[in-house]
Amino acid sequence: MPFGEQALQFERRMNKARSAVFELAGAATAPLDAAHRHVLKVKRVADVLAKHDGREPLSLKKRAVSHQVPKKGDKRRGDRKLDVSDLDEILEIDPLARTCTVEPGVTFVDLVEVTMAYGLVPTVVPELETITVGGAVSGCSLESMSFRYGGFHDSCLEYEVVTTDGKVLTCRPDNEHRLVFEMMHGSFGTLGVLSKLKFRLVPAKRYVKVTYDTFATLPEYKAAIQRHVDAGDVDFMDGIIHSPTKYVLCLGHFVDRAPYTHRYDWVKIYWQSTGSRKEDYFHVADYFFRYDRGVTNVHPRSFVGRLLFGKLLSSAALLRIADTFNGLFSAERPTVTVDLFLPVSRVESFMRWYRGAIDHFPLWCVPYKRPRHYEWIATGYLDGIEDDLFLDIAIYGLEQPPGRNYYEEIERALFEARGIKTLISHNYYDEETFWKIWNKPNYEAVKRITDPRNVLRDLYTKTCRAARGID
Ligand SMILES: Cc1cc2nc3c(=O)[nH]c(=O)nc-3n(C[C@H](O)[C@H](O)[C@H](O)COP(=O)(O)OP(=O)(O)OC[C@H]3O[C@@H](n4cnc5c(N)ncnc54)[C@H](O)[C@@H]3O)c2cc1C
Repeated sequence: MPFGEQALQFERRMNKARSAVFELAGAATAPLDAAHRHVLKVKRVADVLAKHDGREPLSLKKRAVSHQVPKKGDKRRGDRKLDVSDLDEILEIDPLARTCTVEPGVTFVDLVEVTMAYGLVPTVVPELETITVGGAVSGCSLESMSFRYGGFHDSCLEYEVVTTDGKVLTCRPDNEHRLVFEMMHGSFGTLGVLSKLKFRLVPAKRYVKVTYDTFATLPEYKAAIQRHVDAGDVDFMDGIIHSPTKYVLCLGHFVDRAPYTHRYDWVKIYWQSTGSRKEDYFHVADYFFRYDRGVTNVHPRSFVGRLLFGKLLSSAALLRIADTFNGLFSAERPTVTVDLFLPVSRVESFMRWYRGAIDHFPLWCVPYKRPRHYEWIATGYLDGIEDDLFLDIAIYGLEQPPGRNYYEEIERALFEARGIKTLISHNYYDEETFWKIWNKPNYEAVKRITDPRNVLRDLYTKTCRAARGID
């Protein structure tokens, strides 16, 4: 069925569902449209924030599970909650302008289902089904189209931000709130509440064909990545580094037809398949969420475990269980789950250090093109780095031996390489080093506008102290 027809059918289904709901509810009047409902929801959030006395920290409660690494003792769990769980509607899709406007709690699995009815997808679809659009901006999400488009934030055109004194700002790259717009990227919920986001969509086809190229050395691997970035001859690119002598590059193309399709949400493990297959085909959504059972750290670990429970243990289910039982984790030696963004010219020297110090494989590798300088990176930190291309090297599920703190060791090596880590896991930076990487003047300028009473904690305190249970 052509996509236009699918979109019409989708709208008909939505209208029918709406009428049925209102019939059931016996509503005499027409339903509020999404835009009107949105205004009321935002007013409620703004009122709660304006009335908050500012004495204790607030954190967000959303409907979908949080994709932060669950940490024992994280102060966030004891915070008073600002409930934003009703902010989860898709407000508008404009298929001609190829834009989409949503509330922040919309999950990517729901979003892709709806945009695909128009033959469109977001430029960046993070690999776990229930990551939300608001979380993707605040937590710096990326994926296999990032070699072309950067992070999800880079596709965004406008944010609506509710400040903690109850003001509602419309922020765009070209208006008076430009710096607020840019600094929402990677703000981890410390610079106000994103309540609406407008972003670009790109054309898609129904299937994705992936081919796998294997290289024996890092220089060959890097050269192949650069070739595809320069040629722009693929739609998707990521990779699995199986070992120091086996580098697999996964190259995807949208296609209209597929001779067969696979999905990796039960017993088969996607990253392992990349080591033996030459090619694979997917329905678009199954491609996007191929790592949902874990990237290189898949649970359950055993075949029998996956056979029995694999269908039930989505990333969302696992994260909920892990968060509930966080007390069982080691606070001293937590398992390492971290994404490291390395300027491409520094990857070899970093990997030499990594092999000597840690030497854990497989690693996930996502090429990431920084489309422009990011305002949240400290002035001077990337001086001397000419690269637009970064490689995200992700280490997932690495156990730490006694007497070592891999997180701290990685932070030091990354600083030398002028790399940047995402703040979703355990962070040990001292405050001085942290603000040599993250841009304090820009952060403070926006904080004064969006959270002048510091109700949401500052970025350093939230991610490097409170997350580890330190006041
Ligand atoms: C095991 C694991 C695997 C991962 N794999 C991937 C991957 O494959 N690809 C990828 O791109 N990313 C991945 N991530 C990282 C993920 O993209 C980020 O953690 C992202 O921020 C998660 O979004 P979320 O919707 O779950 O938001 P949450 O985790 O709930 O929130 C993230 C941060 O954003 C803030 N926030 C959320 N909503 C709002 C809002 N409306 N306004 C202001 N601030 C808000 C929160 O306060 C929080 O600090 C992974 C994370 C984990 C833990």
